[in-house]
Amino acid sequence: MNTLRVLAVDDEPGMLGGIERSLENFSVRLPDIEGEIGFRVETAATGEEAVTAIAAGPPDILLLDYKLPDITGLDVLRRTANASPEMLTVMITAYASIETAIAATRQGAYDFLTKPFTPDDLKHAVRKAAGAILLARRAKALEAEKKQVRFEFIRVLGHELKAPLNAVAGALFILRDRTLGEDIGPYGEVVNRSLLRLEQMKKLISDLLEMTRLESGKKERTLEEVDLVGAAKEAAELASWEAGSRRIALRIDGPESLVVRADRGEIAMIFNNLVSNAVKYNHEGGRVEIVLSRKGPETAISVSDTGIGISPEGREKLFGEFVRLKDKRTRNVLGSGLGLSILKRLVELYDGRIEVESEPDRGSTFTVCLPAGKD
Ligand code: ADP
Repeated sequence: MNTLRVLAVDDEPGMLGGIERSLENFSVRLPDIEGEIGFRVETAATGEEAVTAIAAGPPDILLLDYKLPDITGLDVLRRTANASPEMLTVMITAYASIETAIAATRQGAYDFLTKPFTPDDLKHAVRKAAGAILLARRAKALEAEKKQVRFEFIRVLGHELKAPLNAVAGALFILRDRTLGEDIGPYGEVVNRSLLRLEQMKKLISDLLEMTRLESGKKERTLEEVDLVGAAKEAAELASWEAGSRRIALRIDGPESLVVRADRGEIAMIFNNLVSNAVKYNHEGGRVEIVLSRKGPETAISVSDTGIGISPEGREKLFGEFVRLKDKRTRNVLGSGLGLSILKRLVELYDGRIEVESEPDRGSTFTVCLPAGKD
């Protein structure tokens, strides 16, 4: 159980005893907050005693009587103003005076309790303060988590951008220092490798820009009738050079035409991501099949390959940013690790879903299911 510390400050022992008894076995459950919250009450009989106790360790909730024998509750608030930004004060007043309320609020009081109050009034005020404290804590934790995610994103991105630059710089040193001799011939391979790394970097940057557009929610979209068969043919055409160079057969199966209402560019990106992966992670002489179908109101785009497949552990990570399942077979395959996370976001725009079936060394099938459009 989560326990909040309450410091009750009052010069009437009866009042302090009453507060202790009321909150002793009191616990609350709050909407959106997990678990039960209990309270531990400490007491102080004078303003000075309260100031010392707060300086030693600020409570979560301060139940503070306005009228104390030495200094006023307001003085206590003034003198402990910097003790803890998280401490919430419930001011106890003998009469509801506007002036006192204004002065106490200015001094940071969160709420008021007017004497005489019932145990239920007290519990109500304490519950309200507990809710505010825990919600503020949660907001702070979320903020910290967001910062951490951003930090991690920048760290990985920095690394991914630096690696190809280092490789190209290394190649330039080889050229400058004529490491491979005076003959220009052997340098061809070094230049080609550098161009490949630069190509990889360009892909990473354009994927990154696409993801930023998607995340900002400000991406321009034009919904129109798009024929998936035409889009599949274009994607196959784009992949045909790489497929041909590794003797991979590309096939499209489906009706003559299959029209959905969608953004043409987004559909092209969905196909290109799936088809280019199916080719990239395939074996020499393998097959890629694009199957288009409609089941009731749902349209399915399915891309199968006879490639390296994905392990069950890999499948869980697949759609994360910068995720590349590295092993000796994928080491020389170009990619940003952003393709599938972009795919996931695109499919979410259509309220669709992605299914993955895969068997290591046998191949994979990625199926994107798009529900009937909602204009
Ligand atoms: P990349 O730019 O690396 O291709 P993706 O986000 O498109 O990034 O894919 C993430 C990772 O998932 C790839 O690096 C690869 O390890 C794995 N992967 C994706 N598609 C396939 C596939 N058809 N077969 C095997 N592995 C795949």
